[in-house]
Amino acid sequence: MRIKNFDEDKHILYLVATPIGNLSEMTPRAIEVLNSVVAIGCEDTRVSKQLLNNFNISKKLISCHEHNEEQASIELLKYLEDGNVAYISDAGYPGISDPGHRLLLKVLDNGYKVSVVSGANAMINALIGSGLDTTHFYFHGFLASKHSTRIHELEELKNKKETLIFYESPHRIEDTLIDLKTILGNRKAVIARELTKRFEEFIREDLNTLCEIDVSTLKGEMVLVIEGNKNNEKVSETEVLSYAKNLISNGINTKTAAKLTAEHFKVSKNAVYDVLIKK
Ligand code: SAM
Repeated sequence: MRIKNFDEDKHILYLVATPIGNLSEMTPRAIEVLNSVVAIGCEDTRVSKQLLNNFNISKKLISCHEHNEEQASIELLKYLEDGNVAYISDAGYPGISDPGHRLLLKVLDNGYKVSVVSGANAMINALIGSGLDTTHFYFHGFLASKHSTRIHELEELKNKKETLIFYESPHRIEDTLIDLKTILGNRKAVIARELTKRFEEFIREDLNTLCEIDVSTLKGEMVLVIEGNKNNEKVSETEVLSYAKNLISNGINTKTAAKLTAEHFKVSKNAVYDVLIKK
């Protein structure tokens, strides 16, 4: 379905990003949009009231959080009948480890439009400042709090080549670092703390070293950025072979198949070629 957001035929829900720390991250567009709507849905009315007061924005606030999103979405739909509506979470983008997604689905389902107002986001700042590979990355958000589930999640991620990004809280950071080290093995790893705030800090180390840090110094909000799996030996010969053979069966010559397979699995071309001619 093709929808032109700014043809003024239907009302729109704006998902508006708000600062992750530094108030100056509130964009002029966010202020303009929030001032223009008939009501604002928000994760926590106390947090949002404080934010909006800073910018002299006075609007009807509707509480819409993780535990009432379904019901609150219905209430916000009523406001959409009268005009445009905005939704803000406590910090950063709605829908990124925050409520907003279910509201979006409901709004679209009811024939209204959705637009996103750009702004701050913790994982992007952390990734870009980490110094780790930004070409391909995987954002996981929070790991499960139950230990066995967390271990299972990490097992699933351990062969990923992409840079891994996690949100974490100070009270769980110690356990999480130990689990990361145990399951992923030692790798380059970065803690990005208190981003955009007075005490912003990047700790660019490896997992072994991060596990040695006195956790009482790891306060505030933080993002973990972990190097992807660089251990090419983890790719099984069978996997490589089947990929290459598939290319060959599609008419690609052995040399080119070896080259393409090597690029795909990020392994050496000669190693693939050797396997291919051996079989
Ligand atoms: N919606 C937000 C976003 O777009 O980034 C994320 C909300 S999530 C509930 C909160 C988590 O984001 C924190 O536990 C922390 O991992 C991360 N975070 C938020 N603000 C941060 C900051 N200023 N510095 C470091 N991490 C931050």
